[in-house]
Amino acid sequence: MTIDDAPREALRGGPRELLRWVATGAAVSRADLSRLSGLSPSTVSQRVEALINQGLLEEAGAGQSRGGRRPRQLAVPTGGAVVGAIDLGAHHARIGTLDLSGRVVQGRTLPVRIEDGPETVLGTLLAEVTALASGGAPGASLASGGGAAGALRGVGIGIPGPVQHSTGRIVSPSRMPGWNGFDVAAFCADRVDVPVIVDNDANLMALGAHRTAHAELDHAVYIKAGTGIGSGVISSGRLHRGAQGSAGDISHCRVVADPAPLCSCGNAGCLEAVASGAALVTALREQGVPVDDLTGVLRLIDDGDRHATALARQAGRAIGEILAVVVNFFNPQVVAIGGRLADCEPLLASMRATLYERCLPLATQTLLIERVATSQDIGITGAAHLVIDHVVSAHP
Ligand SMILES: [Zn+2]
Repeated sequence: MTIDDAPREALRGGPRELLRWVATGAAVSRADLSRLSGLSPSTVSQRVEALINQGLLEEAGAGQSRGGRRPRQLAVPTGGAVVGAIDLGAHHARIGTLDLSGRVVQGRTLPVRIEDGPETVLGTLLAEVTALASGGAPGASLASGGGAAGALRGVGIGIPGPVQHSTGRIVSPSRMPGWNGFDVAAFCADRVDVPVIVDNDANLMALGAHRTAHAELDHAVYIKAGTGIGSGVISSGRLHRGAQGSAGDISHCRVVADPAPLCSCGNAGCLEAVASGAALVTALREQGVPVDDLTGVLRLIDDGDRHATALARQAGRAIGEILAVVVNFFNPQVVAIGGRLADCEPLLASMRATLYERCLPLATQTLLIERVATSQDIGITGAAHLVIDHVVSAHP
């Protein structure tokens, strides 16, 4: 069981990139990899051999030779090696298995009651993922040593709260009673004997969105706005976690709001208390509008309800204010918003307007402001890449 640090290999031609070129079909041979990376054939060969020894690449299509030596073709193994992924939300979890190129093999959405506590929730989800990987029923094999589950190379887990990266421990999450201080990494280590990597859900979304949509861009900020609100930062092509893993956690940044609503952290006027999905539900109820959940809020906004729409605009401005600070400070090439609130037009419009109003022209001149392509698999894709990066970088 290991908790990996950030992917070390973001340089051109690193093992991770070689693997990605083969996985995407950009390269089928060592010669292709040498041309794409600019590395010498001997360096490429050395790295390819290491990847083959780890079972991350294989030689395929060794066709008949007609005199000259035929270049051996490279491929990502399709023999069942998979990565397990869990993207935990407040009410649902998306779980899946993905191949070593990060493509989803199987995905499934399960209802979750976060208040059941970490042992129950994570125990169930781990069993489900292991069962998916082994093609059996949940609980059939929880260890990678037995049967077909040997194909499982690691499990990536996203948690909707702050995760101390070095330990894999949850620290002071909002709306997760019973989870504070829980050692996710240790709990999982007792149940599977493959690497388990734990991170927060915004980082997973950032990594998944970056690798699938903007892998060519080095600097990016991804906002996840759903029930809660957070962000993940890609710096120089890598997920930037900071010293403890809390980089990008904008949920308790203070915004201008009058009155400033009280936040679960004890302060008033936090972004999460003003602009998250949970905040919109609370604010509408306080105005006497009966609404059950975020789905209800989004429906009201679609129907043009003036209270809900005004709140969404206010939320968009608040997110824009914080994002403007981030953009001025960090100068990303792209800012993308994902999560369920990303589909809320009034919120998006005022976020965008505030961002342009408050940012230096140099910072916004070429800035892309986008929506993260809606996909229920974006989180598990990020989780799988966490594991793939770990497996690749653990054996340089
Ligand atoms: Zn707060």
